[in-house]
Amino acid sequence: MKKIFASVLLACVMFVTSILSPMLSVAQKAAPPAANISLDEWEVLRLTNHERHEVGLEPLTTFPLLQEAAHIRADELCELFSHTRPDGSTCWTVLDDVGIFSYSNLAENIAAGYPTPAAVVEGWMNSSGHRANILNGELCHLGVGRSISGGYIYWAQFFYTAHGCEYTELELIMPDSVNFDVGTSIDEMGITGMLDCDCGAVCYLPISADFCSGYDQNASGRQLVTVSCLGFTAEFEVVIGNEEDEPLIGDANGNGRLEAMDAMLTLRHAMGMVELSVPLEIIDFDGSGGVTAIDALLILREVLQ
Ligand SMILES: [Zn+2]
Repeated sequence: MKKIFASVLLACVMFVTSILSPMLSVAQKAAPPAANISLDEWEVLRLTNHERHEVGLEPLTTFPLLQEAAHIRADELCELFSHTRPDGSTCWTVLDDVGIFSYSNLAENIAAGYPTPAAVVEGWMNSSGHRANILNGELCHLGVGRSISGGYIYWAQFFYTAHGCEYTELELIMPDSVNFDVGTSIDEMGITGMLDCDCGAVCYLPISADFCSGYDQNASGRQLVTVSCLGFTAEFEVVIGNEEDEPLIGDANGNGRLEAMDAMLTLRHAMGMVELSVPLEIIDFDGSGGVTAIDALLILREVLQ
């Protein structure tokens, strides 16, 4: 069993004035309620995983009970800013409080005074002990807690690995709409990965661009994006920008319906009696490369079916 303490991290007092109105990035998206994690805590998890990705490490996931432990620790930091709990026991005993009775690796990072998730993760990354925890390849799960007291924001990262943590399944939880504006990043979409771990936890993970391929945020239309992380591959589809309606094959007058009139117009077009404004491929029903009476007949048959 390994337990790793990191030294206490205190932020400069100059942060105090901005504590009451932390700047939240509009990019932040909430985790599913079942994950038991606030927007800011979720963002700390995402940023932590980004740092891990930068050095080739797999992301950490959280789960509700670990979140409960991290929330308890963040609340306790308001009372006693230390890895020792207010009751005098070590921080690790919080696991007993929430009903987690076995572990193989544990670590805790704490901080106070940092106004935003980005600021606190940067603070930890600039401190060797905390950085070592964030970049520890032996760790699997991360609970994040945030509390406010006396104008200070207190942060807790509670890292946890059980014996035999291994993920068995990845499922993507998509937002209600997958239609996004051009320029939307993967991180802004609010996609959550839900994983089953052999330790018994149902785990949650913000899906970020770090794990995705096949996406171009500046291209409009339907896009199939591949997610690869923690040994799994999954796909999701998004629609970027206003998608043009799929043209209806055979709709010679372009009114969005297929009618006998379309067959008539196609025949007249084939006979050189009219010029139609729709693209040729719309009325070239048999795909022969030209418009003939056959196409008109095929359209009529389609209408009559
Ligand atoms: Zn696990």
